[in-house]
Amino acid sequence: PRTAETRSGPRVLAVANQKGGVAKTTTVASLGVAMAQRGAHVLLVDLDPQASLTFSLGVDPEELDLSVRDVLVGSKSVQDVILVTDEAVHLLPATIELAQTEETLASMTGREQRLRVALEQVADDYDWILLDCPPSLGVLTAAALTAATDLLIPLQCETLAHRGVGQLLDTVHDVRAFTNPDLSVIGVLPTAYDGRTRHARAVLEAITESYGLEVVEPPIPRTVRFAEAPAYGRSILQTAATHRGAIAYRDVADRLLAST
Ligand code: ADP
Ligand code: MG
Repeated sequence: PRTAETRSGPRVLAVANQKGGVAKTTTVASLGVAMAQRGAHVLLVDLDPQASLTFSLGVDPEELDLSVRDVLVGSKSVQDVILVTDEAVHLLPATIELAQTEETLASMTGREQRLRVALEQVADDYDWILLDCPPSLGVLTAAALTAATDLLIPLQCETLAHRGVGQLLDTVHDVRAFTNPDLSVIGVLPTAYDGRTRHARAVLEAITESYGLEVVEPPIPRTVRFAEAPAYGRSILQTAATHRGAIAYRDVADRLLAST
């Protein structure tokens, strides 16, 4: 584990799970805004061609000329593409063009390293960089895990929700072997969690036991507030700051800020 003394550069947190709809994007936006509200300098990176993170921060992807794609294929420096959002976080946005980037990158040298190298240009500007991964285990997720210091796995505790976790951990194993030996897995974050159901608790226990993963506390409760927030282009941390969902994300953010 890194200490404050030995650490150089920002913590880079990849939020990944190849399953869609597990609250990756919600987690990146909410933790990022919560960290910024505590005074941290935060950059969020949208690596999903659906550009939900970009959209949820009030930026219309269709209006953008530049995106993270231009950084990954090497034509733009990261400073030229970063936007300042209303939520006090900076954003390296995505556009739909990112959909072709996996294919473009496939034939490019250093594809897994390109995000890591690009982010080094802004290493002095940020305390935390949060990476919103696409719902796949392709090149973009490999690039995110290569650039990351830490991995957080959001998980909805329903039946079979954990089938993909083994596959994700196989990818982590390969990333550690070939591109990023220091990648640290923080653990799973239960999202849309209903702790009143025995089922959700049982699924969570099964996952942590089978894979030896930590559970990050507190779990994020299931609430419709999260579905409503992106419609305003503002996060729940702003629109419903005292809601229990916002409080849970703030608590998780505080734990991450305090961790080394
Ligand atoms: P992913 O990025 O993994 O695909 P999203 O963050 O886009 O997932 O979330 C998927 C859907 O679930 C969205 O409609 C979002 O508003 C909703 N959602 C996220 N977190 C919660 C929660 N804690 N309770 C209820 N719904 C949630
Ligand atoms: Mg998403």
